[in-house]
Amino acid sequence: MLRVKACGLSDVGMTRVHNEDCFALESAHQLFVVADGMGGHSHGEIASRIAVDTIRDFVIGGNGQSSPPTADEARLRPHSHVLASAIRLAHGKVLAAIGRDSRLQGMGTTVAGVLVDGSVAAVAHVGDSRVYRARGGKLELLTQDHTWVNEQVVAGFLSEEQARVHPLKNVVTRALGGESEVEVDVREVQLAPGDVYLLCSDGLTTMLSDPEIERHLLVRRPLEETCQKLVQEANGHGGVDNITIVLVQVDEA
Ligand code: CA
Repeated sequence: MLRVKACGLSDVGMTRVHNEDCFALESAHQLFVVADGMGGHSHGEIASRIAVDTIRDFVIGGNGQSSPPTADEARLRPHSHVLASAIRLAHGKVLAAIGRDSRLQGMGTTVAGVLVDGSVAAVAHVGDSRVYRARGGKLELLTQDHTWVNEQVVAGFLSEEQARVHPLKNVVTRALGGESEVEVDVREVQLAPGDVYLLCSDGLTTMLSDPEIERHLLVRRPLEETCQKLVQEANGHGGVDNITIVLVQVDEA
């Protein structure tokens, strides 16, 4: 039997006035979500809050209509489809909020979510919020950013380090609240004792490189301390954006 414990921390950073990130930590239901809102006049706050609340209400409360699984999801376990459905529902709710109030036009949010069932975690995302796993002394990125710069990395035109500091690094190619349909990336990973999963907004990953993040995750200390150290270091490097972190540790029960 595996057991997960988690902690989360969100920080406004050093230069922003508002924190437009949002996260959910539902350890009893093994649901973990990070959302990073965007839009003028702090409307990003509204979008990320709608996303997190909708996903939580759907996964835990069963509120809302499930969408038909995509061909890929049909090959996955039911809880992966639940998480992807929740994210599509959240997209619809963000669009509906914009439809009701034209001042919210242009708001949107990224999302990264993990839902654990038994020994399998569903990992889903839209946009540039990420999920990493630290296992066996190595950090591995489990998600592929939906950004223009990442498309350039995949095509071989930019290195990952060039992408991380590129002036167009913030241009996302998918977001909740964007185009009428949203494509959710979802995959499954097998949990193992000792794994640590990190969900984060880009306020962490634009300030810290993967090796810098890895260094923190490989130190055995209370999760709360690791969260604080990561935020401190991101702020130490400038903290130009909101920083949100959720850490999930897997242990033998
Ligand atoms: Ca951000």
